[in-house]
Amino acid sequence: MEEKLANINMSIARNAEKHYELYRKMQENIDGCIKCNLCLSVCPVFKATGGSGYAGPRHLSAELLRHLLEFAPLVYDSSYLCTVCRHCEFVCPGNVNTPVAVLFLRRLLDSLKPPYKPAKDVSKGLETLVKLGNPYNTPPELKGEWLEEIDGKEGGKAKVLGWVGCTSSIRLPELAQGFYESMKKILGEDFTVLGSREWCCGKPAFLLGGIEAARILAEESNKRIAETGANIIVTPCPACYSAFKYEQREIYGVNPPSENILHFTEYIHDLMDKGRIYFKENSGNELPRKIIYHDPCELGRGVGIYDEPRDILSAIPGIEVLEFDDVRQDSVCCGGGGGMWGIYPEISMSVARLKVKEALRKGAEAVVSACPACMLNFKYTVLTYDLPVKVLDISQIVAKALSEKK
Ligand code: SF4
Ligand code: SF4
Repeated sequence: MEEKLANINMSIARNAEKHYELYRKMQENIDGCIKCNLCLSVCPVFKATGGSGYAGPRHLSAELLRHLLEFAPLVYDSSYLCTVCRHCEFVCPGNVNTPVAVLFLRRLLDSLKPPYKPAKDVSKGLETLVKLGNPYNTPPELKGEWLEEIDGKEGGKAKVLGWVGCTSSIRLPELAQGFYESMKKILGEDFTVLGSREWCCGKPAFLLGGIEAARILAEESNKRIAETGANIIVTPCPACYSAFKYEQREIYGVNPPSENILHFTEYIHDLMDKGRIYFKENSGNELPRKIIYHDPCELGRGVGIYDEPRDILSAIPGIEVLEFDDVRQDSVCCGGGGGMWGIYPEISMSVARLKVKEALRKGAEAVVSACPACMLNFKYTVLTYDLPVKVLDISQIVAKALSEKK
């Protein structure tokens, strides 16, 4: 095995120093594996696929290296069969960081462009993403369509910019509208959105291994944000949030125009703490009575935001907040992150289906999250499997519950 690894190292090093560096970083992150299999017990993809074609995180740490040199389809497919949920990282006794290794492997594959392609052509997807500024192959001018239905307005200078994100703008207008209406109720003219001018923050490209694409997208986004003069950026999307807050600067070397970047739940929670917003005593039939909160991986394990959404939901009169069996750090991924939903939607939905069934067993009328990627996956799962539960984002609940006065 060691000799084989040395040969792989040598060969990749011969190709290019950059490739070797990426390979080395990937290897570095999986070196400490003691083959205990704890990661398998929490991996949502392993659970959903039953290990067929993919033996989970340990597969990456122990088996993939052996096949990397020949770039067998196995390597390509396995590298995209990960939602980057970070659950395995939190339980690993060997300090193995599989999701980081996966991201380095994807960067290496993007750079080497091996002949095999996964279910969807990632290289082509990255090209379209850079050209259109969104991962949904949608003409940029349609990105602000969600505003029409609510007579919203895009553009102009304001103190606070609402960064809606591609998924909400294009696939989940109800989320974009809930976010906009909540923020407008609170801030009025001090709030603006870019609408059709909003570009991709670069996160999907980063997750698919396209660092150069991510950098180009981040630069363009930041240029457009700067035009609004906003010094606070609030977003309902945890992926955009961590892109602006951490990855743009630390990984792509791009500086966002403001350092004041907040997730919607942080922003609302802060206003609640300061006594500056109130919720209606009775929202009538507008809201479900029993909801269950799903911790988005990127918001929870990613940046440690667990309490804020729960505090907000619990403060809304008339709503009972239920919990999944595994919550917070132990929360089970919905299956939709890390680029999986775009490449293997059936696997994403089979993971989400298990969570929705648990929600139904507990008597929830709605599954609520604080992430467009989770909402998208849950929404399509419920439609595909005809499951009797609503899927909502926390911003939609806040929009309905906010009161004009105390
Ligand atoms: S939990 Fe860590 S040490 Fe155990 S098998 Fe998985 S990667 Fe290896
Ligand atoms: S990050 Fe999540 S999906 Fe990826 S290997 Fe680890 S547990 Fe599985």
